[in-house]
Amino acid sequence: MSAAVRCSHGARSAASCATAESDPCLRCGACCAAFRVDFSVHETEELGGSVPQGLAVDVTPCIARMRGTDHTRPRCAALTGQVGVRSACAIYEWRPSPCREFEAGSDACERARARHGLAPLMP
Ligand code: SF4
Ligand code: SF4
Repeated sequence: MSAAVRCSHGARSAASCATAESDPCLRCGACCAAFRVDFSVHETEELGGSVPQGLAVDVTPCIARMRGTDHTRPRCAALTGQVGVRSACAIYEWRPSPCREFEAGSDACERARARHGLAPLMP
């Protein structure tokens, strides 16, 4: 995201071995509905990366963005489920680098949770 980015968490794939009990991200997804998610166009499938082309929009010749993350009420097009209840990233294995680098419990994570009225992860 331009401001920060998502998770190694992310809302994990439903196919992940993690459970909602062991992984709070599965009951969250707030960061996937809080920030712009920008990354190099080279991470898109079209240019040899893994992010499905239909879920990304070009911002500049060098930068792509996850679709939906620049809306007034941001929500990544790859996010499934309901924020704060149960959510998952539909492209978890193929998500862009900002999502892989985002850390649960970070300041940005807590800001995203607060934005959605969720309690701090690390009180
Ligand atoms: S690609 Fe997945 S992890 Fe990244 S913002 Fe979208 S839903 Fe979240
Ligand atoms: S905001 Fe934090 S707890 Fe929620 S899904 Fe993202 S990293 Fe996980």
